Amino acid sequence: MSSIAENFKNVGQQINQAAQLAHRLPEEVTLLAVSKTRTADELRILYQEGQRHFGENYLQESLDKIAALTDLEINWHFIGPIQSNKTRAIAEHFDWVQSVDRFKIAKRLSEQRPPALPPLNICLQINISLETSKSGCLPNEAEALLNQIAALPHITVRGLMAIPEATDDVIKQRTSLAQMHALFSTLQKQHPKMDTLSMGMSSDMQIAIQEGATMVRIGTALFGPRFYAKTLA
Ligand SMILES: *Cc1c(COP(=O)(O)O)cnc(C)c1O
Repeated sequence: MSSIAENFKNVGQQINQAAQLAHRLPEEVTLLAVSKTRTADELRILYQEGQRHFGENYLQESLDKIAALTDLEINWHFIGPIQSNKTRAIAEHFDWVQSVDRFKIAKRLSEQRPPALPPLNICLQINISLETSKSGCLPNEAEALLNQIAALPHITVRGLMAIPEATDDVIKQRTSLAQMHALFSTLQKQHPKMDTLSMGMSSDMQIAIQEGATMVRIGTALFGPRFYAKTLA
């Protein structure tokens, strides 16, 4: 078995285990394979194992992979920072955008979504750890922003996404994740069709599932360590 296939099995087991501990069904948690810096061939291996949702951070790199994998039925998620001049290509080529944190970007995505495609699935990114240099809207801005975005015609608001501050402190990790769950539950009352709480990465996926994540975004645990960091989109 390839190491990617083996990793895929292990990640699946970790998800099952965490769900069981939380008295949840494993089917309630969608695995998003984060494939930034990975080759189209590596994605293909994972697809053959049954993976369907893939997340990308860098536009040009992702467009190359999307073009190379048109024979597969992949759900493509954009999860990186978004500049205004990138919205058209994102609206044309992706199924989901999880990194929306301002109205201007959401409006452009809605306007530029090709009418022949279904509405674009959007998650609002929340800066849950209140980090000054981080993407995401502040938790206390989320409600107003979500109401605005939900009114756009070619957008379906699916939920919230967060990247909590990196820390080894398990209590801090758990606190941020629990805050996200509380915010999600509050906003869901006004937006009952929202079904996605996207949080949890390789290092905290099990805690995230215990705290209510419905989607975990996993790169390293599936593909191994990334050997280069791209800084250009
Ligand atoms: C890279 C990335 C991930 C995956 O991180 P790993 O630690 O490799 O699992 C998840 N979410 C976002 C937004 C990312 O940029």
